[in-house]
Amino acid sequence: MAGLYIILMGVQGSGKGVQAAFIRDHYGIPHVSTGDLFRAMKTRTDSLAQQIQEIMKSGQLVSDEITNAVVQERLEQPDAAKGAILDGYPRSPGQAQWLESYLQSRGESLTAVLLLDLDLYQAFRRAFGRVTSASGESYNIYSNSDGIEWAFVEDANKQYPPRLEATLKATGEKLIRRADDASAHAIIQRIDTYLQTTQPLIEYFESKGLVQRVDASKPIESVSREIEQVIASVRS
Ligand code: AMP
Repeated sequence: MAGLYIILMGVQGSGKGVQAAFIRDHYGIPHVSTGDLFRAMKTRTDSLAQQIQEIMKSGQLVSDEITNAVVQERLEQPDAAKGAILDGYPRSPGQAQWLESYLQSRGESLTAVLLLDLDLYQAFRRAFGRVTSASGESYNIYSNSDGIEWAFVEDANKQYPPRLEATLKATGEKLIRRADDASAHAIIQRIDTYLQTTQPLIEYFESKGLVQRVDASKPIESVSREIEQVIASVRS
């Protein structure tokens, strides 16, 4: 059977991480995230690894040439013999074209581009409303707030807008928001960057009939079931 090569795309908050783990476990193929691969090179001291760390720190993209080489090396590991879930890659039409011809040279092809569809206001609320307890339990002030109490707390000097604070009702524990989730501006900027980089890719893959949209506003299990159905339909 041909390998299973899935490109997974979705705005932050669309559940991409959870669904990548589902596909990985369900189909036995590795989750290949170029961001993770580059971060894992942090401890390497060679000049290529150092160069990559500098580029990442500056917030720019690593060149297509380097990124493609890192992806190729990863896809040639034994655990990727039956395919892979690609996450954060491709990020440019040049990477997309390279990937297609690389897979072709191995007698393989892309199975599908899975797009986890979520409207942007929902994506915003999933990030902005997210709070976590010290034990790792996750809540959301908009959608999962049964056990928590939340309130706006005025800035003492009235220099900044009120802060949103969530407390666990049962224990009084103050819940934590990731710093980059607490800033509405930063969230909007992340969503905007996502849209700008993915739009040309979506159009590119759309023209090849590879894009499969999955409604990511549904509960996690329903989204997983829909992904299964989509994969079954494109493989048959
Ligand atoms: P991520 O975790 O996907 O946001 O990636 C973190 C950083 O790694 C990005 O800001 C880029 O500098 C780099 N990176 C990850 N994936 C790619 C890619 N496909 N092409 C170029 N640079 C990438």
